[in-house]
Amino acid sequence: LRLPFSFSLSPPPPSLLATAKGKMAGHIVGYPRMGPKRELKFALESFWDGKSTAEDLQKVAADLRASIWKQMADAGIKYIPSNSFSYYDQVLDTTAMLGAVPPRYGWKGGEIGFDTYFSMARGNASLPAMEMTKWFDTNYHYIVPELGPDTNFSYSSHKAVSEYKEAKALGIETMPVLIGPVSYLLLSKPAKGVEKSFSPLSLLGKVLAVYKEVLAELKAAGAIRIQFDEPTLVMDLGSHQLQAFTDAYSELESSFSGLYVLIQTYFADVPEAAYKTITSLNCFTGFGFDLVRGTKTIDLIKSGFPSGKYLVAGVVDGRNIWANDLASSLSTLEGLEAIVGKGKLVVSTSCSLMHTAVDLVNETKLDDEIKSWLAFAAQKVVEVNALARALAGDKDVAFFSANAAAQASRKSSPRVTNQEVQQAAAALKGSDHRRVTTVSARLDAQQKKLNLPILPTTTIGSFPQTMDLRRVRREYKANKISEEEYVKAIKEEINKVVKLQEELDIDVLVHGEPERNDMVEYFGEQLSGFAFTSNGWVQSYGSRCVKPPIIYGDVSRPKAMTVFWSSMAQSMTSRPMKGMLTGPVTILNWSFVRNDQPRFETCYQIALAIKKEVEDLEAAGIQVIQIDEAALREGLPLRKSEHAFYLDWAVHSFRITNCGVQDTTQIHTHMCYSNFNDIIHSIINMDADVITIENSRSDEKLLSVFREGVKYGAGIGPGVYDIHSPRIPSTEEIADRINKMLAVLETNILWVNPDCGLKTRKYAEVKPALTNMVAAAKLLRKEL
Ligand code: GLN
Ligand code: ZN
Repeated sequence: LRLPFSFSLSPPPPSLLATAKGKMAGHIVGYPRMGPKRELKFALESFWDGKSTAEDLQKVAADLRASIWKQMADAGIKYIPSNSFSYYDQVLDTTAMLGAVPPRYGWKGGEIGFDTYFSMARGNASLPAMEMTKWFDTNYHYIVPELGPDTNFSYSSHKAVSEYKEAKALGIETMPVLIGPVSYLLLSKPAKGVEKSFSPLSLLGKVLAVYKEVLAELKAAGAIRIQFDEPTLVMDLGSHQLQAFTDAYSELESSFSGLYVLIQTYFADVPEAAYKTITSLNCFTGFGFDLVRGTKTIDLIKSGFPSGKYLVAGVVDGRNIWANDLASSLSTLEGLEAIVGKGKLVVSTSCSLMHTAVDLVNETKLDDEIKSWLAFAAQKVVEVNALARALAGDKDVAFFSANAAAQASRKSSPRVTNQEVQQAAAALKGSDHRRVTTVSARLDAQQKKLNLPILPTTTIGSFPQTMDLRRVRREYKANKISEEEYVKAIKEEINKVVKLQEELDIDVLVHGEPERNDMVEYFGEQLSGFAFTSNGWVQSYGSRCVKPPIIYGDVSRPKAMTVFWSSMAQSMTSRPMKGMLTGPVTILNWSFVRNDQPRFETCYQIALAIKKEVEDLEAAGIQVIQIDEAALREGLPLRKSEHAFYLDWAVHSFRITNCGVQDTTQIHTHMCYSNFNDIIHSIINMDADVITIENSRSDEKLLSVFREGVKYGAGIGPGVYDIHSPRIPSTEEIADRINKMLAVLETNILWVNPDCGLKTRKYAEVKPALTNMVAAAKLLRKEL
């Protein structure tokens, strides 16, 4: 073993000696907060609605924390996290801890209470919420701290300490988790007014002063271990950012005496420079790595790991729902133990378990075979402990052999493998698929058939989802109403939506998607290879959770999925009716994806299934087909070096779905999330005839790409108003925005549409907004 750096041995913390006999070295990075049946969601929403008190909410939260700690303690976990609970978001908790409340919220100092906390999270009667953005490449969203040169920091939320004490009172020793100071600052944005001139990292010194107070109080409360989450270490960081880690932890070192200090990373491998930076710091007792998504870190560990330190090996996947392959993990762990030394290896999860579902026990509708392939958070805790015990020479043979049997059954199950699909997908690799004619020739051919005015108007697909509609779908699912009654109700709804669009004089119509509960689930339910949970919820933001489908097998399409409804809708009007599909990349990115083949292979399979649907729609006379890729941008990998590969197969998958249609069939796509500038060439490469893009909050940004000379010859509809807000835009305002777009884009390619589906809005908002939108388009047509 070659050790490239010099280290001095740190004495083993007394805590470890005291407990080493009792417990194996298992560690959990973090745990879901929502509860097995989303108890926290309901408690929060009831509190927000004024239907319950703060005490009621606190009681639910405390019960949840207690049951989580107890579960981990019972499972034999030694390093149990605390402060991984949150009423809304762990980054917002850190903002509260640091007292970094933006002044507009009017906080006067003192311990931050629910009022200020939830105002920052959700806004209040007079103020909007703080900005929210994606947490790395997960589907979780955090509240972005806003920092400026005048931000004052003061220790203003003692949550970490009170949770530690709360667990201690239950007889459970926990490891408080804090978001590390450097990641906190790197995830912050400069406050309004100093956007260009200010770097939040310059506040490091001030922030560290508060961290020192927190550490002192934790120690005084009896804490013996602490975990610093520094996930930004896996990103592309520059040397001055890496230097901030050295500066921060050298500064904190004096507060660490007597503490076991773990620095925890996750979501990818740690680049070599970052690895060297942190492992050369002697203040840490342990280093936590994601060894599921970050297998390259294993090579770095092999080339040198500081002697005497603990390696916290994240081998149990916190981002997915598959049971761990215990035999394979054990062999990885044994290899690592040979490097770091006996007793120095801690078995862990790859990241917080908050990114997976909570407890498989509550899944009564999944069959036993599929269940045997799965592990949710509660099961993963048990896996961690089983691995830790096995590593310590106390292997639970029965548990391991049951796991091996389940792994074998998954490998050989005919439900997983479909030879025909495998071959069809394999045949796609290495070849390219695109429509033979250029987009401008196609647009000409389509225009001859469609005969649309300039600045054609359309919407993105869904219309308001009323309570009645939801009830109809629910009752049909529960067999409470017959298929006939169901079809009749949906048909009436479609008819209503079609007539409304004709009255509004929209040019390209939609059927409104009344038969769909969710744009991914609707297709997953009809494709083979998908399974659905009853309670497999994952927090998306605040009290909002999503329930991703599970893709467990080769994907195929037994029969047409949308043709019935789309042709029915088309028969109600002489205007073109868009067929409405969800694209393969979005289905993939919003599902739990199988881990036994590369993601792109699964994506190609879905692409082939959607391709069949596209062809069936075309054969049924649908002339415009929209294939939504709402989530294409959000699947972009964390590191730039991986972008090209992802974009290549993602864009290829999209093209596969429609490469076979005639020139006269118009393919639309739609994308959410407003930051497209870095992937504009991939968007062009999708080769859709028309793209509608969510844009309403950042016209300038999108348009600047075109201003800078990017050539875009296909149809494009940057959303002309924000559907996320109940506000009704005026005709003038919309016309003004279209005019701005016309300054950069050709008249003949510009479409006029809202920026996303209308399903979360009310008819009282949709009708006037669309009326104004159509009026604006007509106004400009006259002028052009
Ligand atoms: N067609 C979908 C709808 O209109 C698209 C939704 C989305 O982009 N998230 O609801
Ligand atoms: Zn959208």
